[in-house]
Amino acid sequence: MTQKQLPDNLHPDTLAVRVAVDKSQYGENSEAMYLTSSFVQPDAATAARRFAGEEDGYTYSRFTNPTVTSMEQRLARLEGTQACIGTSSGMAAITLLCMGLLKAGDHVICSQSVFGSTLRLIAGEFGKFGVQSTFVSQTDVAQWQAAVQPNTRLLFAETPSNPLTEVCDIQALADVAHAAGALLAVDNCFCTPALQQPVKLGADIVIHSGTKYLDGQGRVIAGALCASQQLVDKNFMPVMRSAGFTLSAFNAWVVLKGMETLAIRMNAQSANALALATWLQAQPQVARVYYPGLASHPQHALAMRQQSGTGGAVVSFDVKAGNPADPVLARQQAFHVIDSTQVCSITANLGDTKTTITHPASTSHGRITEAQRQAAGIGQGLIRLAVGLENIEDLKADLDRGLRSLDTSI
Ligand SMILES: *Cc1c(COP(=O)(O)O)cnc(C)c1O
Repeated sequence: MTQKQLPDNLHPDTLAVRVAVDKSQYGENSEAMYLTSSFVQPDAATAARRFAGEEDGYTYSRFTNPTVTSMEQRLARLEGTQACIGTSSGMAAITLLCMGLLKAGDHVICSQSVFGSTLRLIAGEFGKFGVQSTFVSQTDVAQWQAAVQPNTRLLFAETPSNPLTEVCDIQALADVAHAAGALLAVDNCFCTPALQQPVKLGADIVIHSGTKYLDGQGRVIAGALCASQQLVDKNFMPVMRSAGFTLSAFNAWVVLKGMETLAIRMNAQSANALALATWLQAQPQVARVYYPGLASHPQHALAMRQQSGTGGAVVSFDVKAGNPADPVLARQQAFHVIDSTQVCSITANLGDTKTTITHPASTSHGRITEAQRQAAGIGQGLIRLAVGLENIEDLKADLDRGLRSLDTSI
């Protein structure tokens, strides 16, 4: 069947529902799911050319698969990169990033506020293979600059951070990286290209956990790495073929369909988050709210510039528990608020249409010492919300149930 050619200069909303590989001969309107491990070749000579990379064509789904290609093309267009590789998880994308760029003796500078597994992967696992790393402040660009060494190859940032929503300046970090002859990779999981396009701000590589907002409905584990065609062809595709971080066609299809509603969801969930953060800030039982959309946030102006005028959908807050906070009481109070919810899901995942609520100090950040948690600013009274699509009044009532029965005399 002859295919319509998409015109140039389409808007992101259109790209998000239209970019995909050609339809099959049946003309399906919803993209086909190619659940096949291998592809039949017309003849031996064609097979030889395709395996040698001399001719385009699908051979084996560890390398490429049309459903995965559709997801990759769509995400690349939204991020504004030439190419994208889908991976089995967000962590697989970060492993691919490090394997494709680094060798023993190379140095990485990374924010100390990145996702916990990212920290352990870079410092621990890649450290075993002789990769050096320095962890610096999320927000102090001077620390990144001071950490640069002659062997620095990669700067890695994630913004806003989890759970305190600290925002780093992508443009400033890109300048530090490029002056050092290094590359900047940004984990864009919290904002997604609907709110923030790191490449437009100078980043070289964008990392995604598709598990979060790209799928957006909490169904699959998936990841992606977006970069220039040259980086993908030279650095990442060879690793991908050998290492097999393959995204399944089924999961790719789920993410592909998730992206069709990405901008609508991100804007609605951000609006809910702003309303909830504003309301939380006014509650007498709440000591502090962390949300880039609030004027009280230390990087509010930067966030508004960098994140399409929105704060994203993650909001954290400290419950009051004395001044200075008593950790035992703070934990009790936080648990009480969490356990009093009847709508929010108690789970550490985020990026779902269902609002999730979690206690970082005992879950995502439970494996570090109390002193490390204090240094990171993650107290026992901290609660993180990843705000979904429920009605805002129901969410307020759900949190109010626990808050109003806390002792406000402390
Ligand atoms: C969840 C997450 C990851 C890891 O993604 P997985 O799909 O769980 O492997 C990486 N970075 C951030 C910011 C995340 O929230």
